[in-house]
Amino acid sequence: MKYDYLIVGAGLFGAVFAQQAKSDGKSVLVIDKRNHIAGNVYTEDVEGIKVHKYGAHIFHTNDKEVWDYVTSFATFNRFTNSPVANYKGELYSLPFNMYTFNKMWGVVNPEEAEKKIEEQRKEAGITEPKNLEEQAISLVGKDIYEKLIKGYTEKQWGRPCTELPSFIIKRLPVRLTFDNNYFNALYQGIPVGGYTKLVSNILGETEVRLGVDYLENKEELDALADTVVYTGAIDAYFGYSLGNLEYRSVRFENELLDKPNFQGNAAVNYTDSETPWTRIIEHKWFEFGKDEKGNDLPKTVISREYSSEWKPGDEPYYPVNDEKNSNLYQQYKVLAEEENSKLSVEGKKIIFGGRLGEYKYYDMDQVIASALICYKEQG
Ligand code: UDP
Repeated sequence: MKYDYLIVGAGLFGAVFAQQAKSDGKSVLVIDKRNHIAGNVYTEDVEGIKVHKYGAHIFHTNDKEVWDYVTSFATFNRFTNSPVANYKGELYSLPFNMYTFNKMWGVVNPEEAEKKIEEQRKEAGITEPKNLEEQAISLVGKDIYEKLIKGYTEKQWGRPCTELPSFIIKRLPVRLTFDNNYFNALYQGIPVGGYTKLVSNILGETEVRLGVDYLENKEELDALADTVVYTGAIDAYFGYSLGNLEYRSVRFENELLDKPNFQGNAAVNYTDSETPWTRIIEHKWFEFGKDEKGNDLPKTVISREYSSEWKPGDEPYYPVNDEKNSNLYQQYKVLAEEENSKLSVEGKKIIFGGRLGEYKYYDMDQVIASALICYKEQG
């Protein structure tokens, strides 16, 4: 055996696991089928702008250990996510806060806003929310649900809100204060120099081979290490033998525009159901020092995001953690356990980790925390 660990996937989970193993004196090989590191947090330089190639990533966490960990590999700027919602040309502040309630209903203080929400909650008669629609209405009322949630969510997930789990909407805070900060997190920011640099710093001197497809060369690669850390899709690992888990995929239409400022904000969500894209990202606003008047950077890069159902050959982005898929994932987990019983006879092991390996709608900080824990449990 050449290495202690073969790590499949150079995204956050793989990089953090590799870093922990290396600093513990273990030998590690990281492979990735793409021709770059950093998985879906990869950022690419276009005209001096760090473009988030696989969708916008804003780092936020309440976990001090994770924050200390990432900030030991990169400096973070003080970016605060505050997306704007565009509903048929009406602009609203996100997340749902006093600015949103004032624009929606003309209410000017928390008491009035609370009263309005309560009124709409009562009208809907929901006591125990059973799905995303009921959860949303009981959180913010029918008007906000219809203008700012329904269209966006159904485009994003390709399913009616009545068939989606309520936890998805609980990701968004609801506040009776004038605070447009999208995340309830103690720590937030974007790594200066981009995420690719962050992941590269985490990987350090670790040996990385790019353009290597694990599943296509499994036998040969498995011979390189006793323990494989696999961060690809768990159903793909098992050849989709129990059927495929559902994912949402995203298509990005990128444009380099000859103007300094397209929308004045990093993210604008299009929350109606007619606009085909879910949101437009203007990448330069994730960074600082890009003059608002365009004196520093006369150009800008925007990405329109189109959400679609994943099909073989597409990039999987979001696991669809509804009941059907969660049950199927549990069955794949059983296969994973059986696989490990078989491998243990030869003293071998496979670990499934990350958003795709665990079929979980993880945020970046959760992925890092789980990789740190996973390595500790190894030791
Ligand atoms: N959401 C919404 N309207 C918005 C933004 C988000 O209804 O303008 C809902 C939608 O269901 C989405 C969920 O909130 O799937 C979580 O949004 P988040 O921004 O956390 O998603 P991500 O950034 O991971 O795509």
